[in-house]
Amino acid sequence: MSALPSMSGHHAAGAEAYDVVVVGAGFAGMYMLHRLRGQGLKVRVYEQGGDVGGTWYWNRYPGARCDVESMQYSYSFSDELQQEWNWSERYAPQSEILRYVNHVADRFNLRPDIQLSIRVDRAVFAESTNTWSVTTSDGKTVTTNFVVLATGCLSNARVPDIKGLPDFKGQVYHTGHWPHEPVDFTGLRVGVIGTGSSAIQSVPVIAEQARHLTVFQRTANFSIPARNAELTSEEREAFRKNYPEIRRFAREESRNGIYAELPDRGALDDGDNARRAKYEQRWTKGGLTFMLAYNNLILDKAANDSAAGFVREKIAEIVRDPETAKRLQPEDHPIGSKRICVDTEYYATFNRPNVTLVDIKSDSVEEILPNAVRTRSKDHEIDALVLATGFDAMTGSVARIELRGREGRTLNQKWVEGPKTYLGLMSEGFPNLFIITGPGSPSVLSNMIVSIEQHVDWITEAIAFMRERGLETMEASREAEDRWVAHVNEVAHATLYPQANSWYMGANIPGKPRIFMPYIGGVGVYRRTCTEVAANGYEGFVMSAAERAQKMAVSS
Ligand code: NAP
Repeated sequence: MSALPSMSGHHAAGAEAYDVVVVGAGFAGMYMLHRLRGQGLKVRVYEQGGDVGGTWYWNRYPGARCDVESMQYSYSFSDELQQEWNWSERYAPQSEILRYVNHVADRFNLRPDIQLSIRVDRAVFAESTNTWSVTTSDGKTVTTNFVVLATGCLSNARVPDIKGLPDFKGQVYHTGHWPHEPVDFTGLRVGVIGTGSSAIQSVPVIAEQARHLTVFQRTANFSIPARNAELTSEEREAFRKNYPEIRRFAREESRNGIYAELPDRGALDDGDNARRAKYEQRWTKGGLTFMLAYNNLILDKAANDSAAGFVREKIAEIVRDPETAKRLQPEDHPIGSKRICVDTEYYATFNRPNVTLVDIKSDSVEEILPNAVRTRSKDHEIDALVLATGFDAMTGSVARIELRGREGRTLNQKWVEGPKTYLGLMSEGFPNLFIITGPGSPSVLSNMIVSIEQHVDWITEAIAFMRERGLETMEASREAEDRWVAHVNEVAHATLYPQANSWYMGANIPGKPRIFMPYIGGVGVYRRTCTEVAANGYEGFVMSAAERAQKMAVSS
């Protein structure tokens, strides 16, 4: 326990008082709790799910796995933990990741401070006391000095507004909100709407069970084989022995939080044969690092075209029906400008006699009938419908909470033209409100665990800094925030990313402002920026002592 007093000095009488309220008990909220408790702070975590795990609690669809290898998609803060946990596969399935999260909750005794099945509905900042009042779905209100939003970037499942959907007589599932009981599609005709990462993982598994599977595709996506396999004990040992360097590299030098060999040249620096050999090598190795074949794939359109062309050729080789292959070949965005998908037998699944691909860009969905999906040209009869239609990403979960900062202004009002933050960590006008992996930070462009740990450590240190100096509020300055938002956009627009209609841009939500949300500058670069900001006395943030505390200090 810290020798410093708890901060809950100015709270209104009556309400339960905390130093910090954390919203969400996924990877971010759990580690945040662990660190803050280590500082002797009184912390309460609210989690709307029935258990810990966040994304891994909700996304239970068939075939769900992470697209970052498990030896790297895992906490690094405890060496004992990383040495003792045995990942079974290169990409562990969702159930194993959830077991790991639960193991962490137990091992670090986190559960007593986590309240499950409770949603945070509103949080209001009181300028008179510099505290937040947090109201939860059970009707209770508590006060707290700090609020940390650990609400996840992809946690607000989005059900599209398709005519007739409520009248469909079979079961409707959303990949991001999957039932806890096993779903059995045996003997059923199943429809899947969407062809993003979630669909690409679930389609091959559903196809094996269903009598017939119809995949409704609006936009084709690039997918690279995962080459998932059991991890041998030698492979696990190699990671464990080299963890100090692997983790250091991921945090400090990588762009995306993943330890991987970095390219030393651009795609056009190699001749055709050498380039093809390199892509072939990456394709055989599998996984997200395909995009690291060359150092300019996301910067230079001609370089990108060479990689995109390679993957299109692979699709044509795998998929036997030329019409289907053509439909599966993405043509409308550079490869990697949307998160690249990682699959097991996705394209080959379209060779099965029980699988049909419907291109709903040319043959659009008109409505859902009680027993079919009606597209312009025909009715596709189905017994069950899977919506793999994604999330209101990055801002969706935050937007669902009524957050009122200074002068009663809500964060939704402030973000009406797109999210504005300083470093993705705080938004001006909302003192003592931190966001873990918020818009404006590398977040979804990185190995989330690396970015989560960096933010949690930074926030923990900022709070400790304030406590040591008797400071009561911290907030982003308008000027620093404006500069950061401009920088995030400038960096994004120097790449090919904005050329895609992706959820990075909010383009998947009708009416959502188009602003590039994650920070592309790279995990290592971003980390250095945050560290320097802190070392310079939290440059760009305004910190202040309470007037009351100052008066007390003067009179004593
Ligand atoms: P997504 O990438 O947003 O994909 C949603 C899909 O649904 C797209 O194909 C989209 O088409 C389609 N869609 C949306 N609304 C539609 C409508 N009204 N009518 C027809 N089609 C519609 O969502 P996701 O697949 O759930 O993945 C989201 C992110 O989660 C990923 O990018 C990734 O970061 C993460 N994720 C990761 C993993 C993993 O680790 N392996 C797995 C799943 C998800 P358009 O493209 O035309 O909009």
